[in-house]
Amino acid sequence: MTAPVRILIVGGGYVGMYVALRLQRKLRRGEARITVVNIDSYMTYQPFLPEAAAGNVEARHVVVSLRRVLKKCEILNGWVVGVDPVARTADLCLHQGPGRTLEYDILVFAPGSISRTLPIPGLAESGIGFKSVEEAIHLRDHVLAQLDLAESTTDRSVRAKALSFVFVGAGYAGVEALAELEDMARDVCRYYPTVDPGDMRWLLVEATDRILPEVGPEMGRWTLEQLRGRGIDVRLGTRLNSAVDGHIVLDDGTEFDADTLVWTAGVKPNPLVHTSGLPLDDKSRVKASADLIVEGFPHVFTAGDCAAVPDLTKPGEMCAPNAQNAVRQARTLADNVVATLRGRARRPYRHAYAGSVATLGLHKGVAQIYGRKLRGLPAWFMHRTYHLSRVPTVNKKVRVLTDWTLGLFFKRETVSLGAISDPRQEFELAIRTESRVPSSR
Ligand SMILES: Cc1cc2nc3c(=O)[nH]c(=O)nc-3n(C[C@H](O)[C@H](O)[C@H](O)COP(=O)(O)OP(=O)(O)OC[C@H]3O[C@@H](n4cnc5c(N)ncnc54)[C@H](O)[C@@H]3O)c2cc1C
Repeated sequence: MTAPVRILIVGGGYVGMYVALRLQRKLRRGEARITVVNIDSYMTYQPFLPEAAAGNVEARHVVVSLRRVLKKCEILNGWVVGVDPVARTADLCLHQGPGRTLEYDILVFAPGSISRTLPIPGLAESGIGFKSVEEAIHLRDHVLAQLDLAESTTDRSVRAKALSFVFVGAGYAGVEALAELEDMARDVCRYYPTVDPGDMRWLLVEATDRILPEVGPEMGRWTLEQLRGRGIDVRLGTRLNSAVDGHIVLDDGTEFDADTLVWTAGVKPNPLVHTSGLPLDDKSRVKASADLIVEGFPHVFTAGDCAAVPDLTKPGEMCAPNAQNAVRQARTLADNVVATLRGRARRPYRHAYAGSVATLGLHKGVAQIYGRKLRGLPAWFMHRTYHLSRVPTVNKKVRVLTDWTLGLFFKRETVSLGAISDPRQEFELAIRTESRVPSSR
């Protein structure tokens, strides 16, 4: 009897999880052993992060447990720190203890992307990204904590700094995150007698002359008007120059202090590409063919944000890094792995961009789908319907739908659990006090 083929999937996000789901369904028993390595034990449904940040959806309902859905796969949690496509090994660094070297016959390389940052003074110390569920939870707690601070302080500069929220980058992550958080903050102001929504400063900084390119120029302009109509200060053709100690300096000369700086100015391939030994293009994406095989390595497949996959619907261009491509590429990739194992022909990936939907807060949205433009409530409804149909597992669909239904009858939760990032604080205080107070015994 021959040993099963070892398939190693690096990354358990959109591509990794959907490839593994399809492989475990399609492969025959004993045909292959599938190992998925991901930093966390869950896949994050990123399009729901803005709603999680706004408290419309419970944060744990936008992530999917890999062990729960990938029952026929081995799941390992840690960082792949290097890949050798010639020796067919990958080095894994675990959260504790010694690392491991994993051997494979077929590699699916899908570690996604990370925030594309710039060397701006103060950004590393003051800024936060918006790519993970932890960042979404933090931002929700943080914004509410800023309102708590503004209500409690008598110092005008502390108050102004607390109520200033700056977002850099106006793609869908930036626009949706800002619009949802502003909507939440405006809504909860009713519980803060001294904070008027007009006291808050929400600023969106964008280096180009447009926002939300994903929905096309016309709907981008409409979104811009909507945001400005809500009092959000959108600066086009503007850059952040500095953010040292929370002091924001823009290149148009504007300067002020802000306690919140969210960096959403695009993504770049995961730096693991540089230690993968795989061929890269000029944007550091792994070079792939249309059938999702890495150039020069017939046993390595790739897709998603880290990969340069030719867009067969637009000759000469590469597929955009979005979920729409990632989830469909995953399907083709899994089928091509099965085809390779069974000696059949692989098929190329081909998908014409369908458009985009974006949420701009409760009952507000914008969409352009197959050329149809939607604004306001219909677009928001479309956003929710579309993403509900896409979020993985029936379990999560029901939970998200329940969150939304409860939201129709009850106001959203307005409590900041900011201390969750430092849960031992109170216990440490107890220990310190104990060591100072003489024992009564
Ligand atoms: C806020 C936000 C909203 C978005 N909304 C939309 C939308 O509305 N529509 C749309 O089409 N797209 C949207 N996107 C983009 C979409 O989510 C991504 O394009 C998609 O997730 C890419 O899939 P991927 O599998 O390549 O990467 P990911 O889904 O990011 O998965 C990569 C995985 O690899 C893991 N990983 C990374 N490095 C390592 C390592 N060294 N070792 C092991 N594991 C590793 C990561 O932990 C992660 O789980 C949004 C993105 C964000 C951030």
